[in-house]
Amino acid sequence: MHLASSRRELELISVKLTNNRTYLDYNATAPLADSVIDWLAKGAFPFGNPSSIHTSGKKSKRLINETSSYLKSFFSLNDYEVFYHSGATEGINNIIKGFCFHHVKHQTPFHVAVFKTDHSCVVNQREHVELLGGHFHQFDVCENGEFNLEEVISTLNKLEGKVLLNYTLVNNETGVYWPLDLVKEIKERTDAIIHVDAVQLIGKVSGDLDLDDSIDFYTFSGHKFGAIKGIGFTLVKDMFANWCSLIRGGGQQQAMRSGTENVHGIYSIKLALEEISQNFKPDVLKREKDFLEREIESLGSNKIIIAGKKSKRRNLNTIYMIIKDTKTDILITAFDMAQIDLSSGSACSSGAVKPSRVLLAMGYSEEEAKSSIRISLPSVVDEGDGEILFSKIQPILSRFL
Ligand code: PLP
Repeated sequence: MHLASSRRELELISVKLTNNRTYLDYNATAPLADSVIDWLAKGAFPFGNPSSIHTSGKKSKRLINETSSYLKSFFSLNDYEVFYHSGATEGINNIIKGFCFHHVKHQTPFHVAVFKTDHSCVVNQREHVELLGGHFHQFDVCENGEFNLEEVISTLNKLEGKVLLNYTLVNNETGVYWPLDLVKEIKERTDAIIHVDAVQLIGKVSGDLDLDDSIDFYTFSGHKFGAIKGIGFTLVKDMFANWCSLIRGGGQQQAMRSGTENVHGIYSIKLALEEISQNFKPDVLKREKDFLEREIESLGSNKIIIAGKKSKRRNLNTIYMIIKDTKTDILITAFDMAQIDLSSGSACSSGAVKPSRVLLAMGYSEEEAKSSIRISLPSVVDEGDGEILFSKIQPILSRFL
């Protein structure tokens, strides 16, 4: 029997006996893809160090090469290099600080520019950029989560020295989707080096995923689409330009990121991507998400605000809502007790509710920014899932409206 399907059956049985949880936090992380579970369960993976030149090492190396070729062709970036890391946080730290190091070394002025709605692993670089002698700029966004293209371009063109701009395609909290065309235009009209945070792209937007080959770097995180946690990758246009790797060691991955590669994690990226591209039905996801959102809105009249709803483009799986006068932790606890996993979008380790930095940047009040919850659906849903989910969510939400 197919191991993953037997796992699902077991889960269904244990679900009834134990938890019956509904997981709606796919922007935080996704469960392992079935093909990854099957591969791991077989236990036949290679163990050799991919840098070793013996047969066992070569077997591991082959899996890495296979994955890299797959990624380049998947994204139509055949001339790019791929380097793997432990996930987007590491990848983005490496790119931003590696850019700074390069300019410190060459004693040239440098700037890092980001948007206020970027992920914490981007906006929290300020201290290190300034420590290294660079300038850090944060662009505002509008109430709908979009930004002013002309303002960004004119600001970038006024800066003296080299600029690295971070551009996030899909916002992890709101699902607001900034098209690749806009960053392509920024690239054409400025001299900036561009890093694209593409972490929330896969399985969450429609259309093909051909990426633009004028952009300098793209970073992804495997666990967001069913690969093993602790693995990510960056596609690099020119590994020698304007950047030097932070992670020094034995020179693996052409010295872009030293350290013995996580072969299992790397190969799981290929398996998970193959699976998602076979099963992803964007039209169904859009229909079910739109249905769920409409039904939720119809419950709350003026007590529910869907953040980012007025933006021109949103991704297909995210509903980020403010429930006025109700604190995030109360909402999450109520859903948790009803066996539904969802989150606020803004992670907090202390247990105290912090206002969402993204909502504040969009101009919402501190109170509103402390009253948000995010539903993020799986990439693959079935017809009718929206209705089923609404029947589970409605009784809990109604208590606060
Ligand atoms: N960028 C975005 C847009 C994200 O959503 C995340 C994770 O939520 C990251 C970067 C960081 O990814 P990781 O936690 O896998 O390092």
